[in-house]
Amino acid sequence: MQVIIVGGGIIGASAAYHLALAGTAVTVFDPMLEGRATAAGAGIICPWSSRVTDPDWYRLSSGGARYYPELVSKLAEDGETDLSYRRVGALCIEGEESTLDATEARVRARMQAAPEAGTVTRLSAKEAQALFPPLKEGTPALHISGSARVDGRLISAAMLRAAAKHGAVIRTDKVVGLLGTESRVTGVRLEAGEAHADEVLLANGAWAPPLLAPLGLTLAVEPQRGQIIHLRLPGQDTSQWPVLLPMSSHYLLAFDDSRVVVGATREVGSGFDYRLTAGGIMQVLQQALGVAPGLASATLHETRIGMRPMGPGVKPLLGRAHGVEGLVIGNGLGAGGLTMGPYTGALLAQLILGQTPEVPLEAYAPLRS
Ligand SMILES: Cc1cc2nc3c(=O)[nH]c(=O)nc-3n(C[C@H](O)[C@H](O)[C@H](O)COP(=O)(O)OP(=O)(O)OC[C@H]3O[C@@H](n4cnc5c(N)ncnc54)[C@H](O)[C@@H]3O)c2cc1C
Repeated sequence: MQVIIVGGGIIGASAAYHLALAGTAVTVFDPMLEGRATAAGAGIICPWSSRVTDPDWYRLSSGGARYYPELVSKLAEDGETDLSYRRVGALCIEGEESTLDATEARVRARMQAAPEAGTVTRLSAKEAQALFPPLKEGTPALHISGSARVDGRLISAAMLRAAAKHGAVIRTDKVVGLLGTESRVTGVRLEAGEAHADEVLLANGAWAPPLLAPLGLTLAVEPQRGQIIHLRLPGQDTSQWPVLLPMSSHYLLAFDDSRVVVGATREVGSGFDYRLTAGGIMQVLQQALGVAPGLASATLHETRIGMRPMGPGVKPLLGRAHGVEGLVIGNGLGAGGLTMGPYTGALLAQLILGQTPEVPLEAYAPLRS
């Protein structure tokens, strides 16, 4: 069987890796467009404290968090160890005591079926600041030990390299159309030439809908811009700092190289406008410094912009395109794709291989509106 994957973001890279591991012939096409979400994503993995209650969303998110350690050891067998994945824990902060109580109750209820969430502990303001020194004085926290962080660029590049070691072909061509008829996709059209396959996995994030339109199919995905900032604290060892989760859509997390990432805007209706804006940057810094004023003297190191692929709800869009043979869709990972992506890619690989996916995919019908 020959499989073509359109898009080498977190979902396409994972599907490619799992298919290649299973001995399938895979070709990935990705011109690495500006604004690809995986390259901008913050990388927080902490589904247990989320206020999202949709059980199908939670199944993939918690499954994704659980799957990471297994993926990390599989990739190590392929010599891929530069992944930046680490279980550094998370601090839920801000809000009234009663808000932290509610978060604690939610995490504890979910932990019973998710031991990988680790332990949950209430920390005093001093204990919290000892873990994340720039944190504002007087900020008590709820600590979740199993939370992790990962750099989307490193993990997706590692999966693509590992896929190539197992025979996958990685190409930088842009796919400009699907080949075949309204009932059977047989490959892809490139800017120069075409490529044929038994199965095409469309995993090109926010850019997917126009490729489906000629088949009369509507994929309800839109880009949602996220502006995110990387700060540096020269000389500080940030490698073990926990993720900070205030009770808003903003957050802070740290990586090994004295780097603190603060994010992010969520700009509905942004289209593919790949720009930093004065208001966006102000919002991100204001939120971050409000929570962690100790970052005021940090070096402004880098800014990133990503287009989150947002579906019609929180549930991803996954599975076979109903009524079209040879076409599988993986999309709509929204704001949680670095958590769900590797696991979701593995599930799609199972589907393409003719196996029954470990999580039934019926609830994620990709062409729903
Ligand atoms: C600022 C920001 C912060 C985030 N933080 C988190 C977080 O902390 N935790 C979390 O779990 N998730 C987070 N996310 C969400 C996560 O990054 C996304 O859900 C996920 O990366 C989506 O992956 P994807 O593979 O579906 O899409 P993408 O990563 O966008 O990949 C699509 C790929 O398709 C390629 N492509 C497009 N068109 C074509 C074409 N015609 N032919 C070939 N290739 C094509 C693109 O170049 C791209 O590489 C964040 C996102 C953003 C933007």
